Amino acid sequence: MSAGHTAAEVRGPAPGAPAVLEPLREEFFRNAAQVDCGERDTRPGLRLLGEHDVLALGAPGNRDGHLPEAVRLIEEIAASCMSSAFSLWAQRMVIEFLELAAHSAAAREVLPGLRSGELVGCTAMASALRDVSGIEEVPVRARRVDGGLVLDGPIRWASNLFPGAVVVLPVHLGGEDRAVVCLRTTDAGVRVHDAPTLMALGATASSAVTLSGVRVPSGNVLTEDLPGFVQRFRPTFLLLQTALCSGLAGQSLRGVTPRLGGLNAVFADDAAALEARHASVRGRLLTYAAAPSTASVAELLRLRLDGAHVAGEATRLEVTVCGGAGYLAGSPANRRLREAAFLPVQSPTEGQLRWELSKYA
Ligand SMILES: Cc1cc2nc3c(=O)[nH]c(=O)nc-3n(C[C@H](O)[C@H](O)[C@H](O)COP(=O)(O)OP(=O)(O)OC[C@H]3O[C@@H](n4cnc5c(N)ncnc54)[C@H](O)[C@@H]3O)c2cc1C
Repeated sequence: MSAGHTAAEVRGPAPGAPAVLEPLREEFFRNAAQVDCGERDTRPGLRLLGEHDVLALGAPGNRDGHLPEAVRLIEEIAASCMSSAFSLWAQRMVIEFLELAAHSAAAREVLPGLRSGELVGCTAMASALRDVSGIEEVPVRARRVDGGLVLDGPIRWASNLFPGAVVVLPVHLGGEDRAVVCLRTTDAGVRVHDAPTLMALGATASSAVTLSGVRVPSGNVLTEDLPGFVQRFRPTFLLLQTALCSGLAGQSLRGVTPRLGGLNAVFADDAAALEARHASVRGRLLTYAAAPSTASVAELLRLRLDGAHVAGEATRLEVTVCGGAGYLAGSPANRRLREAAFLPVQSPTEGQLRWELSKYA
C-alpha cells in the first residue's frame, strides 16, 4: 500500500477557499518533498503568494473582513506543505504587528515589501505571550539612548530568519516596562545562529539569535504597551495557528478515508470521531475568524489546543492505516506526522495552553 498521495488528493474540501489558491495548491504540493528535505526553502512560496496579493488578508484584526479567507489560505497550504504554511503564518503575523503600528516609520517602510513577499517577516513574539501570561520575563534587554533603544539578549527560537528578514520582538526596558520593536537580521550586532537539524520545518530558517548592542531607532518602536498589543493581535495569532492545525488534520483525514476497507475497518470509529472533532474545530475557527473580537480568550485558547490535538491524532491515524509505507521518511503521511509534532511546541505550547486554560476553569 502506498503512503504517497497524488496532487488530486490535495484538492481538499475546504469550502470557500480563495479562488486564487486553486492553481497554487498543486505547486505547493509538488514542491513539498523538496521543501521538507531542505533542498528548497520557503521564500519562493511567499513570493508566489505575494504576487497573488494574499499575504495580508484580514490584517489587522479582520478590518477588511478577509480573515476567514486568510484562515482558508493557511489551511490549504498546510494541507500541501506545513513548512510553507508556517512561513506564511509568520509572514502574516509580522504584517499584522506592523499594521497595528502603522503610524511607525518602520511599518511604513517595510509593509509594501512584506505584502509583496519581497521582504520576509519573522515573528519572535513567543516570549511576549509568556511575559504577559506571567510565566517568564522577556529576555531581550533594552536601554534608552538618544534617538531610540539599544538591545542585548537572546531570541531562543524564531523562524523565517533569512538574510534581511524583518524581525518583530518584545524587549524589556526594566521594571514593568516593555516595548515591541522591529529590526532586520542584517542590522549591526544581530547574530543569527546556524540552523539546527530539525524533525521537520527545516526549510523555514528556524534558529536562535543573539543581539549585542543593536541600535533600534525610535521609528522602529511599535508600541510600549505590551499587554495592550498582545490583546489586539492574540485572536489573529491563535486563529491562524489553528488554521495550520486544521489544514494538516483535514489532509491526513482525507488520506485515512480510502484506507478504511478490509482489516482497517476497525479504525472506522476512530476516523469518524476525528472527523467530527475536525469539523468542530473548523466550524469554530471560521465563526471566530469572521468576528474575532467576539470570541473570549478561553475560547481561542481551547480552539488552538483542540486543533493541535486533532492534527496530532489524525496524522498518527494516517500513518497507522498506511502501514509500513507510512514509516518511509519521505512519504507525505510520514511528513505530516513529523509536521504535526511541532504543534504542541509552537508557542503557546501545549503546556502553556493547558496552564492558561486551567486558570479559566
Ligand atoms: C522549529 C521551531 C520554530 C519556532 N519558531 C518560532 C517563531 O517563529 N517565533 C517564536 O516566537 N517562537 C518560535 N519557536 C519557539 C516556540 O514558539 C516555543 O516558544 C518553543 O518551542 C517552546 O520551547 P522551549 O523549549 O523554549 O520551551 P519552554 O517554554 O522553555 O518550555 C519547555 C518545557 O517546560 C515547560 N515550562 C515552561 N515554563 C515552565 C515553568 N515556568 N515551569 C515549569 N515548566 C515550564 C513547558 O510546558 C515545556 O514542557 C519555534 C520553535 C521551534 C522548535
